[in-house]
Amino acid sequence: MIKEVQSKTVLTFHSQGFPTHWDVNPYRGCTIGCRYCFAQYSHNYLGLDDFFKDILVKTNVSECLEKELRRKKWNREQVKIGGTTDLYQHIEKKYKLLPKIFDVIKKHRTPIFLQTKSTLILRDFEIIKELSKITEVDISTSISTFDESIRKVVEPGASPAIERIEMLAKFNGICRSTTLGFMPIIPYLSDTDVHLDTTFKHAKEYGIDNVVTSFLFLRGAVRPKFLSLIKVNFPEIFPSFSSLYETSTIDGSYSREIKRKLENLRSKYKLYGVYSPVKVMEQPRQISLFDNIEAEEFNRI
Ligand code: SF4
Repeated sequence: MIKEVQSKTVLTFHSQGFPTHWDVNPYRGCTIGCRYCFAQYSHNYLGLDDFFKDILVKTNVSECLEKELRRKKWNREQVKIGGTTDLYQHIEKKYKLLPKIFDVIKKHRTPIFLQTKSTLILRDFEIIKELSKITEVDISTSISTFDESIRKVVEPGASPAIERIEMLAKFNGICRSTTLGFMPIIPYLSDTDVHLDTTFKHAKEYGIDNVVTSFLFLRGAVRPKFLSLIKVNFPEIFPSFSSLYETSTIDGSYSREIKRKLENLRSKYKLYGVYSPVKVMEQPRQISLFDNIEAEEFNRI
């Protein structure tokens, strides 16, 4: 079910927001359909059943944003567009809400953060390029695996991973920073040495500025659903996977081992682990610059 709605407000503040405190979501629900998506719970508050199919479209999102920025005497804090759902999910092709949002952003010269799993963003490449000349634009995509046979099961509506990183690379040197979110790392599926190395190697080869990582987090009702997906599609790993996920998060000994490997790769490929702008990265920094910032919040996008 696709339903058009009129919103009263669209600019939301999150005290724990990461990496930004403000977001704007043109849609509720997400057709990308990542099976691990922990934003699914948010549909319960709306009385809707299916996060992947019941989509609310805020057709007046740009008008609302314009009013709010004017009213708030906006001081140009960075805003994440699409904090809870993917901004370039399939129905954006029809509704074209993003170009109108970018008009408002341009008018108020507000820095923005864009993160998407869809190459549909390239439709707006020229608009984003122009925007980058007048305000800071940071851009990111998240990839949990470059193995398409796994990607098709866990992220069925996302663009193929290689197309996503190619898309991201097109913004190198145009946007302030490009970041690959290697997330979620799915234990026993996308955590092998080959998977880990391939991801960092691709990021380096495509000239991406940063790689941030996060482990799979199975919140609430997502946990049993994801466990049965593993049981059906990857039965060989089910025993170890289910014992690792007796709760929503994984235990320390597993994560310590993977984090150690990630840090080695970060040093090997000299990739930063923060969602930070290039101009900050260019300042003389300590080795801790290569430390990864945990970003569970970004599991979902
Ligand atoms: S993880 Fe992101 S892209 Fe995937 S379904 Fe959830 S909101 Fe959409």
